[in-house]
Amino acid sequence: MTRLSSLPDADLVIIGAGAAGLSLAARLARSHSHLQVDVIEPRLTYTDDRSWCFWRPPHHDLSDLVAHSWDGWRFSGETGPARHHRVAGLRYQYVRGIDFYTRALERIDGADNIRLHSGLQATELTPLGTGTDALVSVETERGTIRARHVIDTRPRALPAMLYQSFTGVEIESARALPFDVNEVGLMDSMATDEGGMHFRYTLPLSPTRALVEWTRFSTTPVPAAILTAELEAELNRLGLGDARVIRREGGILPMGAIGALPVSPPGVVFAGNSGGALRPASGYAFLRIQAWARACAAALDEGGPAIGHPTEPWLRRSLDRIFLQAVRANPERTPEYFLALATGVPPAGLVRFLSDAARLTDYARLIISLPKIPFLRQVVPQPPSVQPVAVPA
Ligand SMILES: Cc1cc2nc3c(=O)[nH]c(=O)nc-3n(C[C@H](O)[C@H](O)[C@H](O)COP(=O)(O)OP(=O)(O)OC[C@H]3O[C@@H](n4cnc5c(N)ncnc54)[C@H](O)[C@@H]3O)c2cc1C
Repeated sequence: MTRLSSLPDADLVIIGAGAAGLSLAARLARSHSHLQVDVIEPRLTYTDDRSWCFWRPPHHDLSDLVAHSWDGWRFSGETGPARHHRVAGLRYQYVRGIDFYTRALERIDGADNIRLHSGLQATELTPLGTGTDALVSVETERGTIRARHVIDTRPRALPAMLYQSFTGVEIESARALPFDVNEVGLMDSMATDEGGMHFRYTLPLSPTRALVEWTRFSTTPVPAAILTAELEAELNRLGLGDARVIRREGGILPMGAIGALPVSPPGVVFAGNSGGALRPASGYAFLRIQAWARACAAALDEGGPAIGHPTEPWLRRSLDRIFLQAVRANPERTPEYFLALATGVPPAGLVRFLSDAARLTDYARLIISLPKIPFLRQVVPQPPSVQPVAVPA
């Protein structure tokens, strides 16, 4: 891969072929882009390591990837009635990681101008020169690639206001599972302990199959071993301790970066989770990544530079910050906050808020629903009282 000429080796280098890198590369393949693209990815093979959910109408541009969808979702505490939500014309949709990876890889494979370098890590990035002809040198374990544009989607250790740590199993049981197959348990059995809030996330995939996840919101990332033990206890409590485990998924999502996001070197754009794709208050990123990939591919195809994720609008950013600060300050009241939102904000408005499409009336309902004093106290930005830590990348 080491080249000696003064011309760039590639128009674009994409570092990392996960959700963001593959989405962009597949978009460029689909648009029959004329750009020479190199994609660098340490993985040799892909597994069904995660799934992505989001709200959309039944038919949309990713419909053929949707493995399952539901017309209802639920919030519940440890006691008291559950809040059941439905919105006409909207479904909660589930894309399996392996289906997304397979289709993106097929599209890239069919494009002569896009080369995927599997089993390869990028190490250093060095800007070469200045001005419109400047290049970026991308060091890899097998040599250097020089490119006009670089998109860097490598996970980065970013300190955050809160961490969403979760682990889940897709299980198959010989008996019918104790879940309503038409409804997702979005935040079930919400409760708190000294570690912060925890809840169960349940996606019933058939009467006998489900993805069950155990999630914690806390000021420090929770080790996987603790989450796994808690998930096992929850499965035993539900009488599912003997169910067959088909696959596992899990992660730690930083919620609300502390301070400004790192500035990328000239010619380099950070994208994906570490480039601002994650919605601070929810940890949803998949649709935001798709929107970014669409916009970035269009900008590149028009001959412009690569673009990053859009800046969070002021109102959304402020409300997310106030919400995360309130959760940090009063972890024991977090279930009450979520149940207040699930009760006081109409389901369509809450989905719009979670999907970056809130209207002013939705924000008003949100503010009216939440308890006033703890939230008014958080209007002024507060430095975290506990030293933030970075998620292990
Ligand atoms: C288990 C799980 C479930 C999730 N579920 C949802 C959901 O339901 N809905 C939603 O909206 N969001 C969800 N998210 C959040 C978000 O959508 C995902 O994290 C998404 O994968 C982020 O995409 P990404 O490209 O930023 O990161 P990744 O998909 O993690 O891709 C990063 C890539 O960089 C590669 N890389 C690492 N080091 C190097 C290196 N040195 N050189 C080159 N490449 C490198 C990695 O191998 C990887 O392929 C989930 C996250 C996880 C972890």
